[in-house]
Amino acid sequence: MAGMEPLELARRLLSAGPICDRCLGTRFARLGHGLSAAERGQLLRAAAGGVEVNSEDCWVCGGLFSKVPEWARRAAELAQGYEHATFLFGVHPSPRLEAVQEFLDERFPSPWAEPVRRELNRELGRQYERLLPEGSEVSVDFHRPDLQFIVDLETGKITMKVASAFFFGRYRKLVRGIPQTHWPCRACRGRGCERCNFTGKQYPTSVEELILPAFLEACQGEGGHLHGAGREDIDARMLGRGRPFVVEVKAPRRRTVDLEEIAARINEEAGGKVEVLDLRPATADLVKKVKDLHADKRYRARVTLERPVSEEALREALAGLVGEIKQRTPIRVRHRRADLVRRRRVHQATGKLLSPTEAEVEFLCEGGLYVKELVSGDEGGTHPSLAELLGIPARVTELDVLEVLDNLRLREASLSCEEDNAHR
Ligand SMILES: [Zn+2]
Ligand SMILES: [Zn+2]
Repeated sequence: MAGMEPLELARRLLSAGPICDRCLGTRFARLGHGLSAAERGQLLRAAAGGVEVNSEDCWVCGGLFSKVPEWARRAAELAQGYEHATFLFGVHPSPRLEAVQEFLDERFPSPWAEPVRRELNRELGRQYERLLPEGSEVSVDFHRPDLQFIVDLETGKITMKVASAFFFGRYRKLVRGIPQTHWPCRACRGRGCERCNFTGKQYPTSVEELILPAFLEACQGEGGHLHGAGREDIDARMLGRGRPFVVEVKAPRRRTVDLEEIAARINEEAGGKVEVLDLRPATADLVKKVKDLHADKRYRARVTLERPVSEEALREALAGLVGEIKQRTPIRVRHRRADLVRRRRVHQATGKLLSPTEAEVEFLCEGGLYVKELVSGDEGGTHPSLAELLGIPARVTELDVLEVLDNLRLREASLSCEEDNAHR
């Protein structure tokens, strides 16, 4: 069959049984430009001298194309109330269509063919667009549509998936004792008990719970998440320009929201516990980027020393910390993190004594270094450590993240990670 002329192939198809223009057209989809499948089918039928066939009588689609207007109408109904700039149709083929397609490809092979399913998707999209109000700027997006409609050809049912909306921002945590995300009560595992006052929560609130509601309300979404670029300890503050995060809102009805208003509301309602800044629209890709961000961080810690030390001894010990640190997963997190030895760098370590047994120190170090253990040594798990170099037990009593040096820059509407080692 190689080298067969289009007209000859069309004749063979037309003589095999009644076939509609669209289905005929799909065998020649990549032939020429600027024609729809229906137009191609029509032209070839005319040239081959065939008679017109309705979709209902077509042995290939068995009437699928005549159902398109109804599916498009149902999709428009489902989409009502959901702001969207992009959409996509998909079909779950029925066993019948799959078998017919296979038969077509085997018996009437064509170098220009595309599956009937693809023409169905396209036609659904075309008719859907026609149902939208005048002036709607809505287009097909194959990659990540706001709304996706799936037509099940077996059952005739249509369903809609609503893509999450994403927003980038940074948060500052100005008080201690707040986890980044909700923690279930340790006693009841979240069911609610006397210990947690029947809230099911170990901590009364979290950064997520202070930030998310304003987004959910503005977007009229059905739940969501805060994805942080790492997390500080519950008892540590997060200062400076804050920690990058991406908020995900599920099944949003609104995607264009007033971010300034949302920020103002969060900052007012969080009552000085948490602040957000730099809110921007974002895309799903940013979740992974933000979660994988291993940014350098600047910390300030208050350290208690078991015995008095001199300023000079402290200075020398801190100088000895600059360089590579070998750190085994801390004892306190070993139950939930893989037990392994990491190598992380301390770029800077400075400090001063507040009293002979108390110091304030600052570290600039690589992301992923545990600072409490850098001070205490964690029973030999972290080497070197401040305690080891001073030769006396030492521990952090207060910790602040002063800055997350993440190098996230805004480039037009999307965010990108840039290599920038300016602070080194
Ligand atoms: Zn057909
Ligand atoms: Zn409880």
